[in-house]
Amino acid sequence: MVSLFSPVFYVDECLENIRECLEKGWAGPGVKTAEFEKEWGKYTGYENAVFLNSATAGLELTFKSMKELYRWRDGDEIITTPITFISTNHTIMDAGLKPVFADVNDTLCLDPQSVRDRITTRTRAVAFVGIGGNTGDIKEIAQICREHDLKLVLDAAHMSGTRIKDTGLEDIVDVSIYSFQSTKVLLTADAGMVCCHDGGIAKKVRTKAWVGMDKTRTPWSDENTQRWYFDIVDFGGSYFGNDIMAAIALAQYRHLDSDIERRHKIADRYREKLAGCDKLEFIRVPEDCYSAQWLFQIVVPKRDELMAFLESKEIFAGLHYLDNTQFRHYRYAKGTCPNADYYSRHILSLPFHLRLTEEDIDWVAESIIEFLEGCASDKA
Ligand SMILES: *Cc1c(COP(=O)(O)O)cnc(C)c1O
Repeated sequence: MVSLFSPVFYVDECLENIRECLEKGWAGPGVKTAEFEKEWGKYTGYENAVFLNSATAGLELTFKSMKELYRWRDGDEIITTPITFISTNHTIMDAGLKPVFADVNDTLCLDPQSVRDRITTRTRAVAFVGIGGNTGDIKEIAQICREHDLKLVLDAAHMSGTRIKDTGLEDIVDVSIYSFQSTKVLLTADAGMVCCHDGGIAKKVRTKAWVGMDKTRTPWSDENTQRWYFDIVDFGGSYFGNDIMAAIALAQYRHLDSDIERRHKIADRYREKLAGCDKLEFIRVPEDCYSAQWLFQIVVPKRDELMAFLESKEIFAGLHYLDNTQFRHYRYAKGTCPNADYYSRHILSLPFHLRLTEEDIDWVAESIIEFLEGCASDKA
């Protein structure tokens, strides 16, 4: 059996950190949370990092905070991608903004020309998703954002560790949202992080993450001299991260760069084993992208038959993602992104995790080739 994902925890180090939390009574957001925020801010190059209970929470609070601080109106438009996990687009809509779908290109990320074509007087930001860790053509998109005075939000759920060689992602992206969900590159059980330069956004996200509470104020004064007073200055909910998740994240973080190197080795072997097969295509990863390599995806004919064939051999592949404009909830955009529609029907995510052996990789690759060489050459 070869599974799509298989979370690898550095158990002893995780337990050592968790034990410290439990012994000291640290469970909520505290010392470990602050430590991980500091580390992650340094690692990503952002001044502010706010640890939350998921990336979905991070996206929601980001769009709501940007809308309020930058005075965007209901129905203002965010140009976004249809090839993503639905959280990206749900959170735009939940903030009262309108997801306007642009098409993707051969990187599976937003196509710069399509983004240009979607800009209107109501466009406020572009939401870019680095699929599988790929940066796609984000530099060109950042340039478009600068030209049109748009904010650039990065759903970096797949991108813990992704870098661009000649610039920092943090130099071109306003807000990056990371996921530390249990299948992602840096994994906990569930957590996320909002990273940004704008201290106003960070403060608003942090305030909204816990019921809009501000402990530096009281309802009758801008200064709080008693620790038991507080003011409620904003609307919010319960979205904050906790020390147990931060304890796991800190242990996993120490292995992030070497984990990614191993991911690249696995990807290289897949690429080498599949190179001879002219019935499939690889996803374009630009030269200057050092990908976190969360996924290894290929484009194939008869994708669903191939997936069923692989499952008959207990090889479990995945689909990242169904074109979001096909969903009932987003059908207002149906038919607007032909490339996304095409890829949605032809992409396949191969089993990809740190427990894969060379034999697993070779077996998966051979099985794919066996199927593709065996089926008629039509690219249905
Ligand atoms: C996983 C994922 C999310 C959501 O992350 P959670 O931490 O599970 O909320 C958002 N966007 C993308 C692209 C993802 O893959």
